[in-house]
Amino acid sequence: MIRSDRLQALFLELVRIDSLSRREGRIAARLDRELRELGAEVAYDDAGRAVQGEVGNLIAHVPGTTAAPPLLLCAHMDTVEPGEGVQPVVDGDVIRTDGTTVLGGDDKSGVAIVCECVRVCREHALPHPPIDVVFTICEEVGLLGAKHLDLERLRARRGLVFDSDAVGFVFTRAPGANSIDVVVHGRAAHAGMAPERGLSAIRVAAEAIAAMRLGRIDDETTANLGIIKGGRAVNIVPEEVHIRGEARSHDPAKLAAQTEHMQRCFEEAAARHPGARAEVKVAREYEPMVVPDDAPIMRLLQAAAAQTGRSITSAGMGGGCDANVLNRRGLEVVNLGTGMREIHTTKEWLRVTDMVAAAEVTLAVIQLAAAG
Ligand SMILES: [Zn+2]
Repeated sequence: MIRSDRLQALFLELVRIDSLSRREGRIAARLDRELRELGAEVAYDDAGRAVQGEVGNLIAHVPGTTAAPPLLLCAHMDTVEPGEGVQPVVDGDVIRTDGTTVLGGDDKSGVAIVCECVRVCREHALPHPPIDVVFTICEEVGLLGAKHLDLERLRARRGLVFDSDAVGFVFTRAPGANSIDVVVHGRAAHAGMAPERGLSAIRVAAEAIAAMRLGRIDDETTANLGIIKGGRAVNIVPEEVHIRGEARSHDPAKLAAQTEHMQRCFEEAAARHPGARAEVKVAREYEPMVVPDDAPIMRLLQAAAAQTGRSITSAGMGGGCDANVLNRRGLEVVNLGTGMREIHTTKEWLRVTDMVAAAEVTLAVIQLAAAG
């Protein structure tokens, strides 16, 4: 019943609509039209105002044909840079870009799959529960749409997020993350005339970083320093250097330990140099996510996959997505693969047959959910 040609056409149309984070207005307007045509009531929450974007999260209520518990289908509308003026190239079953931008399959594959599934339900008058479609904003800039999502507007308490790559996999576990923002202060001096009056902030930072465990810490913990900026001129002993990084772990205790370790390395390096100082700010970016394999949404998904002759493997992912936030906020959601590949690169591509496979499993989930 899923129509590959229609799914592909909608996907190609969506990737051609620019929708960088905070600029999801045009794509929201297009999806608004799509969902109203399918009999949904469409509204927006105030998340757009909170993040100073063009539009809030799009929340559509598709009335059910049964009184079964409502089901949530969620994907994000924004894409990363370089993501403007996307020129998709269709090569048989594969869709890629012309190499100058990302494709935006992250996450327009998810958006297109959700729209096709709702369309098939209406077109074939299939039984379905009330469906809450949520298309979020600003996923790519810290899950801001999901963090500001007005849950009062949602009827569903469980469902699927479509925002990961491999078809046949569902992500049920994801790490929590802390960001770490450091300013190391030294003392400026003329590097040629009076270097002994100076204290190099770069040198202090270098000592701290050299002593730090980074990269893959263990099988569920990673850490990275991604940005370093400092110094004014080659003839001035640098007074200040800024370093930004992160730590992630599936285990909250390990996350705390790694974050403290990073903080301590900066403080200890500063303490070895009288007059140096490290200002360290730690912020929680998102909480870890764990949905057990026997949770109701997982039982529903496994049964649906079996019905379509497929199997779905639950897995842990290394990044955060809207599902992290929604689980933490009391919903039960897992993240289903859509077929997007090499995301966040200009080599991004996907196979239409993978999107179709994900849509078929989703349609089966909807049918089973209709039965209660
Ligand atoms: Zn995504």
